[in-house]
Amino acid sequence: MLQYRIEEAGGVKYIAYKGFQKVRAVFSTRIGGVSSSPFASLNLGLHTGDDRQAVLQNRTLFAGAVGTAVSRWVTAQQVHGSHVMSVHNEHAGRGHREQADAIPCSDGMVTGERQLPLVTFYADCVPVYLVDETKPAVALVHAGWKGTVARIAANGVQKMIEEYGCSADRIKAIIGPSIGPCCYQVDRPVIDKFTAVFGDTGDLLSPQGEGYALLDLWQANSRVLQEAGISLENIYITGLCTCCHKELFYSYRRDRGKTGRMAALIMILS
Ligand SMILES: [Zn+2]
Repeated sequence: MLQYRIEEAGGVKYIAYKGFQKVRAVFSTRIGGVSSSPFASLNLGLHTGDDRQAVLQNRTLFAGAVGTAVSRWVTAQQVHGSHVMSVHNEHAGRGHREQADAIPCSDGMVTGERQLPLVTFYADCVPVYLVDETKPAVALVHAGWKGTVARIAANGVQKMIEEYGCSADRIKAIIGPSIGPCCYQVDRPVIDKFTAVFGDTGDLLSPQGEGYALLDLWQANSRVLQEAGISLENIYITGLCTCCHKELFYSYRRDRGKTGRMAALIMILS
């Protein structure tokens, strides 16, 4: 049974997912870094307007706290698309110091390599972690509303099946901290996209007056995963809203764009 705990190492606090033997899955908080306001303090995003040296130092701090080498991190450029890239040891280090060097045109990565941390960055969008410990193989995808309607989480499942021989009934999924159905108000164009893709949106959209609704990206991604063959009992929703928890998380929406980024990280240990 999966659960999360908030752990701390050297002043760095992070969300750790418990219940795996061979896989580390974590999500950073904003606590324990060196950046100053409005990026205080553990900003891990290079493309935010923060001081570059501070971000690199924060990355080293977080990497160390969760038992990884930052020089091995593989990152993706995150273009709000739906492509998931299979990555290997030859990709180790891509984007760990330069955004331009990250895996291009991708919002998700999958690997079967040991000690190769997949890392993606967030300030409200949904991180979806996928784990098949029997192979082992892991995936990490970035699902904002665009990635969610493009079913990027299902692309991650499909890539694990195609490239690593995984089977959907052995894959466990985690839906990480992100803006919740309490705070994520969307307008008519987004409502129309979700209605077109999901059909019945009674469990996804709560109307908020003319042309607006609160959107549940956690439930939407859970539906995408279930349609990809993941059973409901293997889908764990963290349930932490980045917008509600100002002390723990950056939120693009709440902070009106001028804010830092958390990291989701997943790695096969052995
Ligand atoms: Zn909220």
